[in-house]
Amino acid sequence: MKLKHNIKTEADMMALGASLAQTCQGNEIIYLQGNLGAGKTTLVRGFLRSLGYEGNVKSPTFTLVEPYKIDSKIIYHFDLYRLTDPEELEYIGIRDYFGQNAILLIEWPEYAGDLLPPADIICAIEIKGDEREVCIQIK
Ligand code: ADP
Ligand code: MG
Repeated sequence: MKLKHNIKTEADMMALGASLAQTCQGNEIIYLQGNLGAGKTTLVRGFLRSLGYEGNVKSPTFTLVEPYKIDSKIIYHFDLYRLTDPEELEYIGIRDYFGQNAILLIEWPEYAGDLLPPADIICAIEIKGDEREVCIQIK
């Protein structure tokens, strides 16, 4: 199933993240695609806020992954932009993150080579002037 959304503002992107969160059971792998500044982290912020997380949400560019525990849900937010070699994912024990009861939100999944499992949901964001076209594909 594929859904297209035209997102006019940052607030609307957060709302989209919130509605995505509502569809998740707790063990999804979500790829976030789109250029720098497309709004991937903004979507994640809306996702986490809607589950009740009130703290800061920024892209874990240097640490590659940021864990969140919200009530009984575990969420890992990855940003693989700085990854220079997929092997680095082996060093951080990437396999241990899979098959857990956790939601994985992954920015720049294309940098991981073939080390990631396939996505359950792909959000592809395209910048169109001030707006963003977001295509959500549920596998
Ligand atoms: P990414 O994680 O994809 O690099 P961010 O979410 O960090 O992108 O940044 C998106 C930037 O674009 C923010 O500064 C945000 O305010 C701005 N922005 C402008 N219009 C939108 C929109 N329609 N949706 C999301 N972000 C937008
Ligand atoms: Mg980001």
